[in-house]
Amino acid sequence: MAMTPQARFDLHSYNTFGLMATADWGMAFNSLEQLQAIIQDQRWANMPRLVLGGGSNVLFTADYAGLVLLNRLQGIAIEECDTGWCLQVAAGESWPGLVEETLRRQIPGLENLALIPGTVGAAPVQNIGAYGVELCQYCCHVDALELASGTVVRIPAAECGFGYRESHFKHQWRHSHIIIGVGLFLPKAWQPQIGYGPLRELGDNPSAVQIYQTVCRVRREKLPQPEEFGNAGSFFKNPTVTPDIAARLARHYPSMPQFPQSDGRVKLAAGWLIDQAGLKGYTVGRASVHQQQALVLINLGGASAQDVIQLATTVRERVLTQFAIELEPEVRFIGRTGDTSLREISR
Ligand SMILES: Cc1cc2nc3c(=O)[nH]c(=O)nc-3n(C[C@H](O)[C@H](O)[C@H](O)COP(=O)(O)OP(=O)(O)OC[C@H]3O[C@@H](n4cnc5c(N)ncnc54)[C@H](O)[C@@H]3O)c2cc1C
Repeated sequence: MAMTPQARFDLHSYNTFGLMATADWGMAFNSLEQLQAIIQDQRWANMPRLVLGGGSNVLFTADYAGLVLLNRLQGIAIEECDTGWCLQVAAGESWPGLVEETLRRQIPGLENLALIPGTVGAAPVQNIGAYGVELCQYCCHVDALELASGTVVRIPAAECGFGYRESHFKHQWRHSHIIIGVGLFLPKAWQPQIGYGPLRELGDNPSAVQIYQTVCRVRREKLPQPEEFGNAGSFFKNPTVTPDIAARLARHYPSMPQFPQSDGRVKLAAGWLIDQAGLKGYTVGRASVHQQQALVLINLGGASAQDVIQLATTVRERVLTQFAIELEPEVRFIGRTGDTSLREISR
């Protein structure tokens, strides 16, 4: 991979949706120095810039008129102390690779987050989560290149604005910070997190490896693999509603799954809503709602961004009409010059 940007950079292999798109310019960086050099280079200073890890949470709605930077920073350092393990992980490391590596070293904690595609550096952006566990439970800090000063800052987890699929990196810091490393602390006082359906069947005291194996098996059974059908995982977030709305919905739909949250709100399953709206298998062009997992929109092969946008718009409208609930995409929409939204492009 060239260390200077390539013109007309093909993004097809850098988005798991498998959409055809190009960027005006693109390159990978393997060191902080390379990243700093490209950021400071006046030739690229005034164009839109997008950092990508594995491209597993993005939807390119158009060719990108800017510079794409592929994060390939590598390195995992692990230090053991009396109470646990401190991990300092470079942002370009594979997230599923990190989970596997910790378990290989008999360090429990990350097993519920097995097989989430992408890089360690993107994990804080949407505070990845699965099977009752979120990154923020183990993240102690994020190291980022602050673009205004050109220096690396260490941001304590408490200041990252972590929430359900949320962080400041998605919002106020999205143009000002590039994540270069993540610090995690995995305590020795480990407790299995087995509140989620299939994990309950493991009994009272499963090992971290048993949980890992179960999560991997369930994910492989349940989720389409991007190599088979391009996708970006859950397309929409699970919506939360007030207890009043939840009670009203429960009266109309007694089988509706509802998950009370610590703040009093109630989380609903977006996949269930889409399924109940009769949309499993619903297809627009070459994009489709997955037959087994309605929360995942897939590329049947050769889908255009327009197919996916139209499909997502229909899903959102049908769920809104039937349940009066507006689904919010989890996937990041990237337009010609940067982030855009389903609402903006389907206007
Ligand atoms: C099959 C499948 C299953 C999935 N399951 C889950 C799941 O269970 N839970 C879950 O939470 N997610 C899930 N996802 C979504 C995805 O895996 C995560 O969002 C992951 O963290 C994305 O990593 P990435 O490196 O591919 O990020 P990318 O898609 O490359 O980037 C995502 C966003 O983060 C920004 N970004 C990336 N790297 C950096 C950086 N170093 N600094 C600043 N910004 C950056 C990008 O600009 C972009 O806006 C799934 C996706 C797929 C395809």
